[in-house]
Amino acid sequence: MSIKVMVPSGAFGKSPFDSELDSLMRAVGAKFGDPGSWPDKYGATFENDEIVAHEFCWCEQDDCPFCREENPEPNFRLKQTGLEVRWYKYIGRGMETNRQITEEDVTLLRYLSSPGS
Ligand SMILES: [Zn+2]
Repeated sequence: MSIKVMVPSGAFGKSPFDSELDSLMRAVGAKFGDPGSWPDKYGATFENDEIVAHEFCWCEQDDCPFCREENPEPNFRLKQTGLEVRWYKYIGRGMETNRQITEEDVTLLRYLSSPGS
């Protein structure tokens, strides 16, 4: 069994990219999500070659992969770099990452969230 440690965004030491994570998560949600479910607020549910994402789940069931207490699935995973992000209800609230955000993460996220990519 592997245990994943998620900590509040920024807890690994300040990354110059911490503040941008919020807007990048919103931009990705808006680009790939269903506009009727406010994906720029709660996140989007989709998977493509680069990203696995799931909007915040409100079910609170113990057997739900997103709501279980132990090792819950992240709301966002960047496949290439392994960055994982979780938030509580809304993007930006109680946001946690599995490690410090790097320039590579942000460069990729900027590209993937841009309208033309
Ligand atoms: Zn759930």
